[in-house]
Amino acid sequence: MSILKIARMGHPVLRAKARSLHPSEIRTPKIQQLIDDMFETMKEYQGVGLAAPQVHEGLRIFVAGFPPRKDLDEDEEDDDDGEDVPLMALVNPEIEIASREVFEDWEGCLSIPDIRGRVPRARQIVVRAFDRTGRKIELPASGFTARVIQHETDHLDGVLFFDRMKSFQSLTFLDEYGRYWSGHSRQD
Ligand SMILES: [Zn+2]
Repeated sequence: MSILKIARMGHPVLRAKARSLHPSEIRTPKIQQLIDDMFETMKEYQGVGLAAPQVHEGLRIFVAGFPPRKDLDEDEEDDDDGEDVPLMALVNPEIEIASREVFEDWEGCLSIPDIRGRVPRARQIVVRAFDRTGRKIELPASGFTARVIQHETDHLDGVLFFDRMKSFQSLTFLDEYGRYWSGHSRQD
């Protein structure tokens, strides 16, 4: 496995629409390797999600998740809702909004380092996708997990979290975020 280079805001790959995979492609060594490398890269940079365009691959794949809180360092503890995000690798995800309720919370992005901002997202969704074995899955998600899935799926359409903000008033550098708003330090 290897740690991949992350594209930063301004790289055109982050603004392109990624292509869907044919189900028969998912189990190929190339895609399996990519998924393994994406998990390793996400872990290395302490992200909670990572989409293929962020590692310069224009494919509709993302990985997400992090282990239970007890494994985290002190400064990573605070979290939106205190929820854990289950480990997942989703291919060709399609999101259905499951309730009209929208909530605003902090987001960061490994492609926009050291910046945080408040982003409105649907609180409840259902995501349909293929898992890494090529099996069709349907996953209901809410709260922080739903937020992460929406953020990562946006990456597949060339959308960054800035685009979803209602205003830029909450934009904050990480240091100031830690000092004034929270000790939370994850990016996805
Ligand atoms: Zn991101």
